[in-house]
Amino acid sequence: MSKRTQIGQTGMFVNPIGLGTNAVGGHNLYPNLDEQAGKELVRTAIDQGINFMDTAFIYGPGRSEELVGEVIKETGARSEIILATKGAHKMDGQDVVFDNSPAFLKQSVEDSLKRLQTDYIDLYYIHFPDQDTPKDEAVGALKQLKDEGKIRAIGVSNFSMDQLKEANKDGYVDVYQGEYNLLQRSAEKELLPYVKENNISFVPYFPLAAGILAGKYNKDTVFNDLRSDMPHLQGEQFVQNLEKVEKLRKLAHDKQAEVAHIVLAWYLTRDAIDVVIPGAKRAEQVLSNLKTLDVHLTDEDIQEIDCIFQ
Ligand code: NAP
Repeated sequence: MSKRTQIGQTGMFVNPIGLGTNAVGGHNLYPNLDEQAGKELVRTAIDQGINFMDTAFIYGPGRSEELVGEVIKETGARSEIILATKGAHKMDGQDVVFDNSPAFLKQSVEDSLKRLQTDYIDLYYIHFPDQDTPKDEAVGALKQLKDEGKIRAIGVSNFSMDQLKEANKDGYVDVYQGEYNLLQRSAEKELLPYVKENNISFVPYFPLAAGILAGKYNKDTVFNDLRSDMPHLQGEQFVQNLEKVEKLRKLAHDKQAEVAHIVLAWYLTRDAIDVVIPGAKRAEQVLSNLKTLDVHLTDEDIQEIDCIFQ
């Protein structure tokens, strides 16, 4: 069996390389997604010992959960998988609004359970904060679901520092999911120190910064999906970011690894980060990202990477 590490203090053990599945059935996020390729990459992940799956209602909407649920069912591996999903998006006609009210979260968990074809969710996150609900009340609703056995751990995502503190008033938050990668390190100021001090595990999303940290773009790359609106992939910023990534290439070469593996391995050296969830569109990317487990970064390597992206 592959290496296993505990997510925070949840008692749940995972391969430190997990899988982000917003490109599995996430038709509202990426155009022209092939569902069979999506299912295949989830199957490959499970076959190869990845056991932490990250999905959400809004990917699809609903479709990512359905596809991930179908594959888990077909592999018969439910008890070995740590399945994480998220909710907070309420469909209001054509609009989507955030809702963290206890009633909405409870209904959302029931709906996710059906789509995932399971009777428990290992980790349920409030995906985004709403304006109105006190965050300790929202988390209190998840605590009730935890006591009932419908979820095993409580997460929040995209909460500000103040919202996280309010959410964790009673110490119930197990996991925080937020944007963090070598090009976006603002979480280092307050969030990462807070979660470390409070035994909350930090799951960084966007670990490859939509692919640039996989080292595969150059200044002539043209984006035709949601990447075409991302500031870090435009103009002068894009050029500067590419230069930083180039500096990683030598280190990757010396370690007979790829840039993506060095980057993912670096996150796993951070306090409070136990597991990463790189997304993938094809099974080969899943197989590639697993090679991160073969990378050993020395203290000097860790510092060098830190400096390049300071
Ligand atoms: P990401 O992990 O930074 O980038 C993933 C993309 O990089 C893949 O779709 C693939 O795209 C490319 N890629 C992956 N592995 C590669 C490899 N080895 N070599 C080359 N390219 C590779 O971004 P993300 O998928 O958006 O984020 C990860 C996960 O975090 C998501 O799947 C989702 O589960 C979660 N997430 C959560 C939130 C939240 O609000 N909580 C927000 C965003 C994401 P191409 O093949 O098209 O280049």
